[in-house]
Amino acid sequence: MLVASLTIPADLLPADGRFGCGPSRVRTEQVDALVAAGRTLLGTSHRQRPVKSLVGSVRRRLAAVLGAPEGYEVVLGNGGSSAFWDAAAFGLIERRSQHLAFGEFGAKFAAAAGTPWLEAPSVRSADPGARPEPLVEDGIDVYAWPHNETSTGVTAPVQRIDAPGALTVIDATSAAGGIAFDAGEADVYYFAPQKNMGSDGGLWFALCSPAAVERIERIAASGRYIPEFLSLAAALTNSRLDQTLNTPAISTLVLLDEQLRWIDEQGGLAWAAHRTAESSTMLYDWSERVAYARPFVARPEDRSPVVVTIDFEGVDAAAVAAALRANGVVDTEPYRKLGRNQLRIGTFVSVPPADVAALIGCIEYVVERLPRIG
Ligand SMILES: *Cc1c(COP(=O)(O)O)cnc(C)c1O
Repeated sequence: MLVASLTIPADLLPADGRFGCGPSRVRTEQVDALVAAGRTLLGTSHRQRPVKSLVGSVRRRLAAVLGAPEGYEVVLGNGGSSAFWDAAAFGLIERRSQHLAFGEFGAKFAAAAGTPWLEAPSVRSADPGARPEPLVEDGIDVYAWPHNETSTGVTAPVQRIDAPGALTVIDATSAAGGIAFDAGEADVYYFAPQKNMGSDGGLWFALCSPAAVERIERIAASGRYIPEFLSLAAALTNSRLDQTLNTPAISTLVLLDEQLRWIDEQGGLAWAAHRTAESSTMLYDWSERVAYARPFVARPEDRSPVVVTIDFEGVDAAAVAAALRANGVVDTEPYRKLGRNQLRIGTFVSVPPADVAALIGCIEYVVERLPRIG
């Protein structure tokens, strides 16, 4: 089967063919902002005013777009969300954490919390496509889960755990800026900006409550060994000066700042959430209409508005993704370790609903021309 040789008519194609779940679509206006910064900011010192103003702008815009309550602070550091997990194991978890593991990313934070100086974490698991609930347990000082599990397309509500002294710590890497939530329900809402924020990787950002700041400072003063690069207290001190411990990717900051400016101008998080809901609903509804597809996530309330996973039956989803890719419609393949006959589509805020409608037309065009499988 020469699937890849299938040519989708140009009038069916989306204006932009990038539907990945991370790194994901970067808008042209962001690239324009980067080109403009290329003559002023790129290649200049991150200890001088121009780059520090950029960091300050990102911190202010993040607090505004995410709806930070009074007293919350935006902290940033190098290394992306994966580095944040290790930093949290050193500087945020006091004795024992609880993790909801219902996909790759929630499980990875749980693994990072398995250190010699902490008690073995409590891990509550669910099969991919579903999600477990947190459970209040004695001795837990951090409750952690992803707002959006990018590997499976399951979203979980952000709701503070009612346990005195414990922190609610949310991985928002694919959710931040694309799913509405109440920031006051989390103590730490952290993310890397290469997904819904349409930026590049390499940095982490965390919206921290006063209780989280107090925890960071207390553990840092406790005498626990903490490597400087993974020190949240050092990140906090530097962030307050609109800088990072070591050199950041200035281009990542420029792309993020422009995305935040755009989201804010369009109507903020409520606007963004409405847009991602429109795009994702189009796909879920379509998959329920056609005989050969259905949503992977069983419970409608768990279905992510930003990462849409669709199971296929009687059609080879990998062949569909390959044919799409050959026509410039890329990154619809499922999460590699999930191993399902599935497409995974990023419906982040940068993707206009019109492109999602066009994508559906392209999938139908390809499926009609593929052989059925058993
Ligand atoms: C992509 C992703 C990560 C990993 O981010 P890195 O910056 O590559 O470390 C973590 N959590 C979630 C929910 C993600 O989607």
